Amino acid sequence: MRYISTRGNAPALNFEEVLLAGLANDGGLYVPENLPRFTLEQIQSWNGLPYHELAFHVMRPFVEGSISDADFKQILEETYAVFAHAAVAPLRQLDSNEWVLELFHGPTLAFKDFALQLLGRLLDHMLTKRNERAVILGATSGDTGSAAIEGCRRCENVDIFILHPHNRVSEVQRRQMTSAISDNIHNIAIEGNFDDCQEMVKASFADQAFLKGTRLVAVNSINWARIMAQVVYYFHAALQVGAPARSVAFSVPTGNFGDIFAGYLARNMGLPINQLIVATNRNDILHRFMSGNQYFKDTLHPTLSPSMDIMVSSNFERLLFDMHGRNGALVAQLMDDFKATGKLAVEEDRWIEVRKLFDSLAVNDEQTCATIAQVYAQTGELLDPHTAIGVHAARECRRSLAVPMITLGTAHPVKFPEAVEKAVPGKTPALPAHMVDLFEREERCTVLANDIKAVQNFVSQHGNRGKAL
Ligand SMILES: *Cc1c(COP(=O)(O)O)cnc(C)c1O
Repeated sequence: MRYISTRGNAPALNFEEVLLAGLANDGGLYVPENLPRFTLEQIQSWNGLPYHELAFHVMRPFVEGSISDADFKQILEETYAVFAHAAVAPLRQLDSNEWVLELFHGPTLAFKDFALQLLGRLLDHMLTKRNERAVILGATSGDTGSAAIEGCRRCENVDIFILHPHNRVSEVQRRQMTSAISDNIHNIAIEGNFDDCQEMVKASFADQAFLKGTRLVAVNSINWARIMAQVVYYFHAALQVGAPARSVAFSVPTGNFGDIFAGYLARNMGLPINQLIVATNRNDILHRFMSGNQYFKDTLHPTLSPSMDIMVSSNFERLLFDMHGRNGALVAQLMDDFKATGKLAVEEDRWIEVRKLFDSLAVNDEQTCATIAQVYAQTGELLDPHTAIGVHAARECRRSLAVPMITLGTAHPVKFPEAVEKAVPGKTPALPAHMVDLFEREERCTVLANDIKAVQNFVSQHGNRGKAL
């Protein structure tokens, strides 16, 4: 499999190179040159397979040429064995023909584990083969950091540095990061806000002299391997409810358009998905586009669903590329204009085409809490605020009651107790069994000034399993 840039002006790469690359050097994002397409018979034949075996069939075409079948199978088996539920991604029924896909049984209780557990293992495999080491540098406002740390915990060849804003992440989120103790894990609390952290990461990718030649890898949602891993659970869930003999619909709480883009790919690979619902919080740039063809930057509004608090959606460019007949020059022009004006609209017929598949809704905090309360009263299930946004949008935007509707359950409610307590007074979600001691675990973290030199010095002093690069 070869990968090309959405801006059409960077060299094509194979899977191994894309995994290590991050952004394309023309500023674009990598996508497969040709998407694999499965027949209905093939999809049907996967019915009943354990998650890791299904994952092998779905992802094999994407990694072909970079890893042997035997190695890939073994990595997948190890990856999904760490999930705390036998089904890995179980479905929970909420109502007639309506389900939540529970993607929060991984080590950090959010769907990001599906991709980052795999990414860490794939990275280590490729680096071993190349006899190289790498440094991961990332910024987090919550879920990504802990999932990346857990994913890299056992990597031999990777040192991971995660910046978070000091005293501005929730206690559960902080402890999930800082209680992962290993020579190659480095938590840095920055005396600043999330944007400061993100700026330092960006600037470090632009000037890598402080790394003394060690490779720098990105683990944010623009990394292709993350999207690829997320395609699998769409197949897994759809097979459980009768696909491919029948169509299914998905509602996806989304911020950076990563998770829902994976659903769009699943459909283009042959899975009969007849509706995809983009569910946003008040930070609704994606809803503005889907509902009115207006993609423009607005101010950031903090909400009860912080993992979707974004101003622009980094993966949206991948959809734009397909919307424009995969013409990289057109996409580059659009993105240049967007950079200059903060606004973007596409030609009417392209937008109408996209709307055949996608619907959208922006859900505010009040509606989020009302949905948590309603679902709890009706079923006894506690939803996290992100999942509740998906359920609310699913119910509002559903096209057909005859088509099974599956909302992606992106996080465990215990990660967001504030919203849960607001919605159901007196109710505190309990930590799952494998995490009951979270609040007693030792923490390790370094507080640094909001100063890029301090951060880069720290990385070069500790980037080789705690020793200097
Ligand atoms: C990251 C995250 C999202 C948003 O995912 P995208 O891929 O950015 O759309 C939604 N919910 C939770 C709990 C998350 O951690």
